[in-house]
Amino acid sequence: MRDFFSGLLRPRVEALGLEIGSANIKMVELSGTPPSLKALSIRPTPPGVMRDGSVAEPGALADTLKEMLAEMRTRKRYVVTAASNLAVITRTLQVPKMPPKQMEEAVRWEAERYIPFPIDEVVLDYAPLDPLENIPEGEQMDVVVGAARQETIASLVESLKAAGLEPLVIDVKPFAGLRTLEPRLRTPDREPITLFLEIGAESSALVLTRGERLLLNRIIQLSGKDFTAAIAKAFNLDVMAAEEAKKNYGLATIPTEDEDLLLDFDAERERFNPARMYDAIRPVLVEFTTELRRSLEFFRVQMGDLGVDQGFVAGGGSKLRSLVPLLADTLGIPLEMADPWQDIQIDKNRFDLEHLRSLSAEFAVPVGLALRGVNPLD
Ligand code: ATP
Ligand code: MG
Repeated sequence: MRDFFSGLLRPRVEALGLEIGSANIKMVELSGTPPSLKALSIRPTPPGVMRDGSVAEPGALADTLKEMLAEMRTRKRYVVTAASNLAVITRTLQVPKMPPKQMEEAVRWEAERYIPFPIDEVVLDYAPLDPLENIPEGEQMDVVVGAARQETIASLVESLKAAGLEPLVIDVKPFAGLRTLEPRLRTPDREPITLFLEIGAESSALVLTRGERLLLNRIIQLSGKDFTAAIAKAFNLDVMAAEEAKKNYGLATIPTEDEDLLLDFDAERERFNPARMYDAIRPVLVEFTTELRRSLEFFRVQMGDLGVDQGFVAGGGSKLRSLVPLLADTLGIPLEMADPWQDIQIDKNRFDLEHLRSLSAEFAVPVGLALRGVNPLD
């Protein structure tokens, strides 16, 4: 009954999904239940706009956002977005179950120990990991806490407002990406352990869940930018040229001789031949896989020796040729590229499916944000 009236009084608003990445800004409009794709846009993030996970130039960001809104021809102005992984700290804490008002205080008090800046300069939110009704009053419960500096959130909100957008939710990126996998996180009789790995341009995120319950969330700084930097150094290129070389010739495993022979000879191909490319990238790969292994090891120690049943990879950084099979091999986990479009209705006459598929990696987080915007908001 309450839901019925609140539905009448508060007409449901749908919101756009927006990720302001360090490399690309992505916006997507979904509508309805089940959600269907209405519009999307991706643009390179103008240089200097983002710095260390915060908006450094709100005006320039707002201009780009306005262009994207015009390109999408959307009338929606509510938006669900996320702060950069570098600007957010998430932790799982334990607090006794209490009435909401007191619990918020308890979480703040407990969180203070984990947050490296003064608690009164922080925007903080939390969510219980288990359904509240399963926990008796006074018992300890796990909550995941997300915290960011007020000034980081303020400059983000300022940029959005300057573009005519109205933020409804500021989310955490890896949790948003996970939302696109929801139907695959559990079956009626099984709660598999799932790994979600998002490799962005400036950071990567590793999330483990059992069913839909969060087990582990780690941010790793190694990401797309580090592969680019390694190529720039090895071939003496600027960042732009190294990006191009990475996309065209980058690879994560040493090619077999057959593959080598398949390449036609030309001067550029010779310069960026697979063996040299692999040599340039290998130190970053080793460091990256070591970091991932270490995080998984931490999880194994904490949880007992549980295997990971399935894994999904997303983020533009995961498009490095043969990276996903390499990671599957070294981690011993069945991994596949996440497909954020899988549960979205798509009109084939309006959208080029090949094009959408080529952007699957980049759109996992923005589609996850947009899904929150079409589901009833909490
Ligand atoms: P972040 O979330 O970390 O701020 P972002 O969201 O802007 O970053 P994405 O848009 O997901 O990042 O992806 C951009 C990254 O993907 C860049 O580092 C880019 O070099 C990398 N990338 C894109 N295509 C390829 C490719 N074919 N091979 C290797 N790397 C690629
Ligand atoms: Mg990203």
